[in-house]
Amino acid sequence: MTAAKKLCVIGWPVEHSKSPLLHNTMLGVLGLDYEYLCQPVPPDGLEDFLAAALAGGYVGFNATMPFKTQLAHRVDVLDPLARKLEAVNTVCIQNGKLYGYNTDCPGFIAALRGAGFDPSGKKAVLLGAGGAARAVAVGLCEAGVKSLTVCNRTPEKGAALAALYPDIMSTSPLMGPQLLDTLSEADLLVNGTSVGMAGQGEWPDLDFLAALPRDALAVDLIYHPDRTQLLARAQALGHPTMNGLPLLLHQAILALEHFTGAAIPPEAVLPALERALQVS
Ligand code: NAP
Repeated sequence: MTAAKKLCVIGWPVEHSKSPLLHNTMLGVLGLDYEYLCQPVPPDGLEDFLAAALAGGYVGFNATMPFKTQLAHRVDVLDPLARKLEAVNTVCIQNGKLYGYNTDCPGFIAALRGAGFDPSGKKAVLLGAGGAARAVAVGLCEAGVKSLTVCNRTPEKGAALAALYPDIMSTSPLMGPQLLDTLSEADLLVNGTSVGMAGQGEWPDLDFLAALPRDALAVDLIYHPDRTQLLARAQALGHPTMNGLPLLLHQAILALEHFTGAAIPPEAVLPALERALQVS
């Protein structure tokens, strides 16, 4: 009997990661002979980990903080989306080579489409310009949005993000009349900041949501809590909403497709993933 192939998530800290639960649930449902572990790697320990992984320890791994950018410069073959984002969250090891991908970007688009929203030709507003917001922005631009306005607390970071697709993206201050004007024409609002996440503080004022057309989709990338104050207010105003859970699930499904080479229809695993998270 051959040993199961090994996968893992690396990070520092990493114990909080949902990846082992999600991947082991999918592997069980699909009957695939892999095991997925949690592997703490200190910030200066990436090379030691890679040496052990390449020596036969793992066939692939996911990466969380602080390794996503470092891996984009370290893998042997870098997927074009991951290059654009300068962030790798999924690495496959094949024939002694490291192949780097980013599944947050297509994962977000898959989540939107799963919620019945096709971004093509739409006008979008994105709050934030950190790691998660960058994946959303690149995903939306690649999926054909007509325009995307980036609103970030630190304007220079917003401008640097918008420069990735200058024909599609522009910037606006995070609050004020320009944001309200932009929102009044938007089909999609995404909160990609950490404001509203448990323990991270709240929006001082959510009245800006009143400017958004009623049929616009309001998305918060946060999934803890599962309904942020921003989403609660948007729902009260009659908007369709989506929290960060579908992104979490779809990026994991796409990562497992890279690891195993198997096509995984989301409907084959999503019910089991949602059940697993409920009891965790
Ligand atoms: P990050 O790289 O640290 O970026 C944080 C962003 O939030 C920056 O744009 C920052 O603005 C902004 N921000 C922080 N505090 C703020 C405040 N008080 N007022 C206004 N803006 C503020 O973090 P990240 O990794 O992108 O994560 C952002 C959020 O996305 C987190 O809540 C995280 O839980 C969520 N997330 C969800 C998933 C998922 O699978 N659903 C995946 C990744 C992340 P500055 O540039 O001005 O600092």
